[in-house]
Amino acid sequence: MTPGAGLVVVAEDDPAVAGLIRLYLERDGYGVQTYGDGTAALHAVRTHRPVAVVLDIGLPGTDGVEVCRRLRADGDTTPILFVTARDEEVDRVLGLELGADDYVTKPFSPRELVARLHAVLRRSCPERDQDRLRLGEVLVDVPRRRAWASGAEVRLTATEFDLLAHLLRRPGRVWQREELLAAVWGYGAAAGTRTVDVHVSQLRAKLGPACPVRTVRGVGYAADLPDDDDPGGGSR
Ligand code: CA
Repeated sequence: MTPGAGLVVVAEDDPAVAGLIRLYLERDGYGVQTYGDGTAALHAVRTHRPVAVVLDIGLPGTDGVEVCRRLRADGDTTPILFVTARDEEVDRVLGLELGADDYVTKPFSPRELVARLHAVLRRSCPERDQDRLRLGEVLVDVPRRRAWASGAEVRLTATEFDLLAHLLRRPGRVWQREELLAAVWGYGAAAGTRTVDVHVSQLRAKLGPACPVRTVRGVGYAADLPDDDDPGGGSR
């Protein structure tokens, strides 16, 4: 199992590099939001509270060093993996003691980036596991079977809880109704796919605007961030 899949914010203005990072992180079970400029990325980290940030230094808007500095100035300790293009940027990262957790230098292998991100996550929170799942304003404590939305605890039925936890384990992953039935209700379940729709509606009613369950027309559902939280620089 991946060491704590969750949402990763990637700030990278080169679409090819951003796409490659997204591909590898998603393959590893992370949800990924990419931003091409630093200001949008900073906003995203503050509002979406990702498990980690992959931060290119050379960014339009607010550069990566400044994004990191502002987050740390706020007391935000989200692990940051810097992506640097030049040796002098490495010097800046190391010299300023910005509180970056690690860095990779371009050109990097995507596998190296993922491995370093895992290491950063393990160091930042050694007990990190799949016990607590968070996406935006929704938090789930799996062993205690408790859920919160926008800071308030929400009472869920056993099935609603299992469905929410299942979706939150793989943010961004699109599930067919049949896959959700198999995973949450079990293979022998007599329930039809309509049951999934009913439970999603119930989750939306209980979690309100923070509900991260998105309908993917013609396919099924995914846990994702609400659209109105997206400052516009994001892509999904
Ligand atoms: Ca760049």
